[in-house]
Amino acid sequence: MKRLSIEERLGTDKFLVDDELPHITLDKNICNTCADKPCVKACPAGLYVLQGNEVSFDYVGCLECGTCRVVCIPKGLKWEYPRSTFGIEYRFG
Ligand code: SF4
Ligand code: SF4
Repeated sequence: MKRLSIEERLGTDKFLVDDELPHITLDKNICNTCADKPCVKACPAGLYVLQGNEVSFDYVGCLECGTCRVVCIPKGLKWEYPRSTFGIEYRFG
């Protein structure tokens, strides 16, 4: 059996995006005062991107791992699981 890379495994997952209700939202005022912005390095899906000194974020592709919730000490984000039937459906493992 062929051993799959992380990218290949993630590629088998399916997302049903809730366009009406993002399950993670950022408070830009708090994020702008956050010196280290650990979410940028911690998110395994790379959804937090540093643009200049500001963090941009897109919840599409979220793996619902909760890592950003843990590393965000300044509490600049609001984190909920997606509404029922939305979010990621793992297909491998
Ligand atoms: S760690 Fe939290 S407060 Fe800091 S930039 Fe990321 S989401 Fe904003
Ligand atoms: S829950 Fe995980 S995958 Fe989703 S944004 Fe946070 S760190 Fe990234």
